[in-house]
Amino acid sequence: MIPLAEAQQAVVDRCAQLPTVTLPLVEALGHVTAGAVTAAEAVPAFDNTAMDGYAVRSADTAAAPVTLDVVDTLAAGRAPDVAVGPGQAVRIMTGAPIPPGADAVIMVERTRALDGGGRVVAEVSVPVGNHVRRAGEDLEAGRVVFEPGEVLQPAHVGVLAGLGIHAISVVRRPRVGVISTGDELVDGAEPLALGQVRDSNRYSLLSLVREAGLEGVDLGLVRDDPEAIRATIARGAAACDAVLTSGGVSMGDYDCVKVVLDEMGEMSWMQVAIKPAKPFAFGLVGGTPVFGLPGNTVSSMVSFELLARPALRRMMGHAQLHRPRVQAAAASPLRRHPDGKIHFARVVWSYRQGRYEVRSAGGQGSHQLSSLAAANGLAVLPDGRGADTGDAVELIRLHEARRWD
Ligand code: AMP
Ligand code: MG
Repeated sequence: MIPLAEAQQAVVDRCAQLPTVTLPLVEALGHVTAGAVTAAEAVPAFDNTAMDGYAVRSADTAAAPVTLDVVDTLAAGRAPDVAVGPGQAVRIMTGAPIPPGADAVIMVERTRALDGGGRVVAEVSVPVGNHVRRAGEDLEAGRVVFEPGEVLQPAHVGVLAGLGIHAISVVRRPRVGVISTGDELVDGAEPLALGQVRDSNRYSLLSLVREAGLEGVDLGLVRDDPEAIRATIARGAAACDAVLTSGGVSMGDYDCVKVVLDEMGEMSWMQVAIKPAKPFAFGLVGGTPVFGLPGNTVSSMVSFELLARPALRRMMGHAQLHRPRVQAAAASPLRRHPDGKIHFARVVWSYRQGRYEVRSAGGQGSHQLSSLAAANGLAVLPDGRGADTGDAVELIRLHEARRWD
């Protein structure tokens, strides 16, 4: 058996970042920027008011209350054409440019209109710059807005649109083909004959692929027939940036995925010192990474999480390949037996009184997928006897908190 970290490194080292592509903004969401983005203009582009009120000369308000003549009204979007002279004010709405002569805004709540709006009483004095949003206060022209390697979130998309940038160069999103293998597998809803198993891995893996921000390609269900497996992997490797198979990588008589991968490409077959998901194969077929994940329902998903996802994130240009681990306290016993492996226990975590707590999400067999559905994290249990209630454990959070009571 090889240690997990070694297996992860071996795989990541053979998966290269994809080329860049220019995408419309919203489609670029979740992608990684390929180059630095520089602001060609200031944001805001001009001094403007943060409040509805009156643009005034601060000095005029020193002896407030004071009555001023209202010489113009400025809605957002209108350029001022009247200057504010001594003893004057301009009615102004949020976002409108500060008219020449004015150096402060007094909010409407601190004023009283007279003569149907022809004059206004400023009831308080305001300092220079009051409620004025300065040009460039958000972004100065010429500033680097995003470095290469930034993961685009909704606010990034908004910042880019605010600069008039509507297409951006990012690392291309990998297309990931998914294949299920096994003579026992069936698709669809017909009653099962004895020995038949419904294919669930293709659906869970395509979902993991999508959740990771990748594009999934369903390459179907293939029999335990070396020729059929070879043809489907070849087709997938030609059409996709990476291929995931499940099943056929352990020690059984019909485990032909590892045999086929061995013939097709430079392949490493590994027994990784983890539970679930010990068997794993990885190879490059015509330069395309192929991940041979184990067949058991939980194993295939845990194998994706620990071995495929980090490598696929590298292809996407992410710097952060692995999920962060946090310290948690066991709120229920998480027992195991020594076997030389790290166990990844399905747990429900919650964050309360400033700390993470985890408890078992149910049966931990590698075929018990419902407990993974009930879980929102994996507790890392090093070789040994596991954790008692109150013991510290490392936690990998897969999803947001879910309450257990
Ligand atoms: P294998 O690694 O091919 O020996 O498969 C191990 C176990 O996982 C067997 O019980 C298979 O029936 C089951 N299995 C394999 N592939 C799938 C799949 N796509 N969906 C559900 N179960 C599967
Ligand atoms: Mg099989």
